[in-house]
Amino acid sequence: MSRNFRNLLVTGGAGFMGSNFIRFVLKKTSFPGRIINLDKLTYAGDPANLADLEEEERAGRYRLEVGDIIERDLVDRIFREEEIDCVVHFAAESHVDRSIAAASDFAETNMVGTLTLLEAAREAWGGRRDVLFHQISTDEVFGSCPEGSEFRESDRYNPSSPYAASKAGADHLVRAFGHTHDLPYTITHACNNYGPRQTPEKLIPLVITRLAAGEKIPVYGTGENVREWIFVEDHSRAVWTVVTEGVVGESYNVGTGERISNLEVIRRLGREVARRTDRPKDYFEELITFVADRPGHDRRYALSSEKIRTGLGWRPAYST
Ligand code: NAD
Repeated sequence: MSRNFRNLLVTGGAGFMGSNFIRFVLKKTSFPGRIINLDKLTYAGDPANLADLEEEERAGRYRLEVGDIIERDLVDRIFREEEIDCVVHFAAESHVDRSIAAASDFAETNMVGTLTLLEAAREAWGGRRDVLFHQISTDEVFGSCPEGSEFRESDRYNPSSPYAASKAGADHLVRAFGHTHDLPYTITHACNNYGPRQTPEKLIPLVITRLAAGEKIPVYGTGENVREWIFVEDHSRAVWTVVTEGVVGESYNVGTGERISNLEVIRRLGREVARRTDRPKDYFEELITFVADRPGHDRRYALSSEKIRTGLGWRPAYST
């Protein structure tokens, strides 16, 4: 049976995946309620990502609250005034390279911020069962996946980067609140998302920008690291499916099975940019510049998404 919520708190909704999710829910589903987007607007957040929601904003169905998820008073006020009955928690420091340079913001936002939301939810909701805390997690919590295998939801956490460790810590807190305080929750582990409005420091927008400008494209190590990719709208639909129909207390992997090395991603994009800009079809090969590998770089990510496919009937609509 499908769950209905009235007032969704989406955190980090001015970022890449959160903004896509909000647009998806308001425009592509029959959700009749309201969305409050709590976002600190770090370098990664931009209200312009949701500029097309003016009509929904005027109708009172969408509102941006600029603020930090770590501020308990603010979060409490939103729960109380907006009568929040569902949290979809995207807000995070999300860039692995930044977590290697300096990790404290990752511990603050990803762990302490998640804890703040959980405590506020617990207090506001008491023992209610008609509410939900949905945690957006990542395939990176499982660490590098051996060739020939796939990670399942029940596999052991083994994060490699400070980013992945902070997301793993957040997931553990969510489960602990479910176990200890009976807080209804669900978790999704996403593979790499791509699509419109992604911050330019991430692989695909970075490569497209450099290709178009004819600039050098830095590639870590040998470029053979393999990632699984999903179009961001397919991810939004998966999250909405879990939020409305997923089994409370369960985690779901959200992947496509389409696994490609970083070098192959660059070559596919290069061929496409060459075609669209009338350049020779292999012009980009000389732009590829191998640089020292990222410390602790995971070799391969691969998710089994059987559970969400067979249990909830979700499957990706786009191929990579
Ligand atoms: P993003 O960096 O584009 O956006 C993050 C958003 O969170 C921004 O709008 C930022 O302003 C906001 N934010 C950061 N700190 C905050 C704070 N303390 N309080 C309130 N808002 C804050 O990230 P994204 O790529 O859209 O990723 C969203 C979520 O999905 C993250 O939790 C990330 O770990 C997870 N994830 C991302 C990917 C991916 O491929 N991008 C894959 C798997 C999981």
